[in-house]
Amino acid sequence: MPKIPGSSLAGVARAYTAIQSGNYPGCAGKGGEDGSAHCGRTDCAVCMAYGFAKPEASFQGLAQFSDARILFFPVPSAMGPLWVTSPSALYDAGCRPGDAEVDWLQYNTAIGDGAMGMGLDFPDTRVNLGWLYLPRVARPPELPAPAGWVMADSERSCTLGEIRCLKPVCERLAMVSDARFPVLVEDQLEVRTSVSISPETGAAAHGALFTAEAIPRSTVLFFQATYLDPLLFSVPPQRNHGGGDVGFTRAQVAGHVETGLRIVEYAGIGGANTRGMGRMRVLPLEAR
Ligand SMILES: [Zn+2]
Repeated sequence: MPKIPGSSLAGVARAYTAIQSGNYPGCAGKGGEDGSAHCGRTDCAVCMAYGFAKPEASFQGLAQFSDARILFFPVPSAMGPLWVTSPSALYDAGCRPGDAEVDWLQYNTAIGDGAMGMGLDFPDTRVNLGWLYLPRVARPPELPAPAGWVMADSERSCTLGEIRCLKPVCERLAMVSDARFPVLVEDQLEVRTSVSISPETGAAAHGALFTAEAIPRSTVLFFQATYLDPLLFSVPPQRNHGGGDVGFTRAQVAGHVETGLRIVEYAGIGGANTRGMGRMRVLPLEAR
């Protein structure tokens, strides 16, 4: 399954936090050949959140990122676009219908080789998801519609239906089994073919044809950011050890990281950034 590695998220968030806090380019990136371009100050938004590696001292950073994994994936059907998910994706993302806990994985058995309409009822006994033609599985009465589902971690929660751009996704959500989900995703990735044009001939340059796979627009991914408490660390030791001069609170670390993550929507993440790829909106930031 395609994913965005946590290291990529951390790297772009670092660069954008550095721009927003006026510490660019020194504290962005890896700090030159030996890390000496990082300031390493306990009051630096970038070096405290993302770490630094100066020759004389290093620090791992207070923000930790998981990989971003696919939660809702758009697939064409005869009914128009449907977004597909699976029990383990919902389980791992911390989705639950309202306040009740739900054992998502049990639905693998009920779904079998079929597809369960979550936000809508399939009008026929079968539904096509891409080229796959699957039997319809009725949504059990104990599962409410996705718009009321809550996505929660230890400190924060949001209701999916309250996030503006997730509304159409919730209305057209379908669940397939964990075994079927990767097949659908792999099969519906965008494949872009490109070629270089030779300036001498105006035709395709020899040997310059290439293809790339991409996650399609409107895919919903999930990731977790963990913010450690600065009070648990001492960088450098004489500064904030034992309640001394603490550069940051934990909430401020989160704020600095989210300042960077907001920019991903405009400046992008990953390759082919100048050719329509890599724009990503971090939705809980929109919900607040
Ligand atoms: Zn710095």
